[in-house]
Amino acid sequence: KTLDLTKKLEQIVDDVKMEAEENGLDIRFTSNARSVIVKADAGRLTQVFINLITNAIRYTPKGGNISVVIEDKVMDRDANYACVSIIDNGIGIPAEELPHLFDRFYRVEKARSRHTGGTGLGLSIAHQFVKAHGGFIRIASQHEQGSVFTVYLPIEGEQTGSTS
Ligand code: ATP
Ligand code: MG
Repeated sequence: KTLDLTKKLEQIVDDVKMEAEENGLDIRFTSNARSVIVKADAGRLTQVFINLITNAIRYTPKGGNISVVIEDKVMDRDANYACVSIIDNGIGIPAEELPHLFDRFYRVEKARSRHTGGTGLGLSIAHQFVKAHGGFIRIASQHEQGSVFTVYLPIEGEQTGSTS
């Protein structure tokens, strides 16, 4: 099955806009490409982006900004990927916590003490689904500055043949 990632993300961001605004957050979607086609299970990928966007909303204080950006054909590890970044200027994650984020039930101490409910499963599920699609997730975060979660998904039929 193939999926137009641009269209899907547009729809997801549209769906969460109201919730974000109720939390005093601005969310926007930008794309440098009309459509980005990936071979993927639409339901599972939707879950991945919902999990990441919900985190951005939950861990960003009022007045913050969230942006969802899609980039086509990013070369990495000898292949072409579609990249989706979810960028927030929220509470951020201390460097020492980063290696544990994909662990099941893992929550950063600071977040745990907030009254935001959460089980600590969202990222572990996102990680597993993206891996099952032949992709990976990179995290860049600065404590008290914000976070960037980037999902890399292989682009259908766009593998470069180099094995040397
Ligand atoms: P669930 O997603 O199961 O409802 P959760 O949000 O706590 O619960 P994960 O989505 O797996 O669980 O995230 C794990 C932890 O990583 C969070 O508890 C939080 O501490 C931290 N985290 C995740 N995303 C962000 C973010 N955008 N900014 C700051 N911290 C984050
Ligand atoms: Mg979560």
